[in-house]
Amino acid sequence: MDSKEAISRLLDSSSKFTGEYWRKVYSEERFPEEYWNSISSSGLIGFIVPREAGGLGLGLSDFCSAVETTARWYAGAASYLFLSSCLSALIIERLGSETVKNFLLPDMLSGRKRLCIALTEEVSGLDSASIQTIASKGQGSYVINGSKMFVSNLDKCDYVVIFAKMEEGITAFLAETSNKAIKKRKIEKIGLEFINLFAVDIESLEVSHEFILGKQGEALKQMRDIFMMDRLATAASLIGTGWLSIDTASKYAKERVSFGRKIGSNQGVQFPLADSACRLMAAESILMKACEYFEIDRSLVNIALLQSQDASSASTDVALQTLGGHGYLVEKDVGRYWKDVRAYRLHPISEEILLASIAWQSLGLPRTY
Ligand SMILES: Cc1cc2nc3c(=O)[nH]c(=O)nc-3n(C[C@H](O)[C@H](O)[C@H](O)COP(=O)(O)OP(=O)(O)OC[C@H]3O[C@@H](n4cnc5c(N)ncnc54)[C@H](O)[C@@H]3O)c2cc1C
Repeated sequence: MDSKEAISRLLDSSSKFTGEYWRKVYSEERFPEEYWNSISSSGLIGFIVPREAGGLGLGLSDFCSAVETTARWYAGAASYLFLSSCLSALIIERLGSETVKNFLLPDMLSGRKRLCIALTEEVSGLDSASIQTIASKGQGSYVINGSKMFVSNLDKCDYVVIFAKMEEGITAFLAETSNKAIKKRKIEKIGLEFINLFAVDIESLEVSHEFILGKQGEALKQMRDIFMMDRLATAASLIGTGWLSIDTASKYAKERVSFGRKIGSNQGVQFPLADSACRLMAAESILMKACEYFEIDRSLVNIALLQSQDASSASTDVALQTLGGHGYLVEKDVGRYWKDVRAYRLHPISEEILLASIAWQSLGLPRTY
C-alpha cells in the first residue's frame, strides 16, 4: 500500500465517525471501540513499521499527514489513539526481543493488542531522568517497585512499558497490565473523555530479561527517536484539530444571522478565522520541514510542536468565539476541541520546556531544564 492509498483508507475509516458519534463517546466517557475497530481493521497501525516486520514502511511526513487527516475529519484529539498505536508498534519492532516481537507485534499491528507508556512519576514530573521507580535483579528476573502517574489508556491496554532505574541507568520493561503487582487508580481530568488516566503503584513486579526493551540503562536514549516522532505526530493531531474547529466555525459563520445579516459577512468575524487559517498553514509547513529534516536536524521538532500548540490553541478559541454563546454548548463541538487541545500545551512536553530547549539548542543560551 502506498501513502496515498493508506491516507485515503484512513480517511474512509475516520470520516464516518462524525461529530454526533464523538459527542456520544465524550458524554458517555468511554473508549471509542467502533472507531478503534475501524482504523485498526484497515491495516494502518503498521503505518511506519518497516515492511519486513509486517508494517507498511511509510515515512514520517506521510504519517503526520495521516494523523492530521484523521484529526481533521472529526476525530480531533482522539487521533491520539491512531498515532500512539503506530508509535507503540514501532517501539516493539525496534526494541523488543525476538520473543516479544514474535508474540506481540502481529497482534498490535492488527489492533488486537494495545500498549501504553508509564514514564512520568508524581515526583519527577517532566524531569524524566529523575524517576524513582527501581528495578533490581532477582533470581532470573527483575523486580520492579515504585509508582507512576498520568498513564493514558491503561485500562484499555494489554501491555505497559514501565521505565525504572537500575545501576546501569533507566531501563524500559514490558509488563502485562493485568499483572496483580500493578495497582491502578483512575485520576479524574477535565477533557479528553475518550481515554482514562491512571496513577499506578507497582509492588514487586517480576519481569523476565526477555521483556526488557532495548539495552539496560539506555531506555531514554534509545526511545528518544520515537519520543521525537511522537512530538511531530502530536503537532499533526493539533493542526488537524485546529482545522476541524476553523472548518466548523466558517460553516457556522456562513449560516448564522445576527443583526439582520450573516455573521460571516462581518470583518470582525472573518479576520480571526483567516488569521487562524494562516497560523495553521504556517504550523503545517514547519511540521513538514521538521519531518523532512528529521534525520539531520532535530531542533525543528520542538519548534513544530510549539507552533502547532500555539496555532491550535488560537484556532479553537477563535472557533468558540465565532459561535458565540452556542460555542459554549456541548452540541456544537467546538468547546470540546478547545478543551482538548489545552492538554497538549502540557503533554507530551510543556510549552515552557519546548521554549527552554529552543533557547538552548537554537540560540545557544544556558540550558535550564
Ligand atoms: C492528558 C495527559 C496525558 C499524559 N499521558 C502520559 C502517559 O501516557 N505516560 C506518561 O508517562 N506520562 C503522561 N503524561 C505526563 C506528561 O507527559 C508530563 O510529564 C506531565 O504532564 C508533567 O506534569 P507535572 O505537573 O508533573 O509537571 P512539572 O514538571 O511539575 O512542571 C510544572 C510546570 O512547571 C514548568 N517547568 C518545570 N521546569 C521548568 C523549567 N526548567 N523551565 C520552565 N518551566 C518549567 C512546566 O513547564 C510546567 O508548566 C500525561 C499528561 C497529561 C496531561
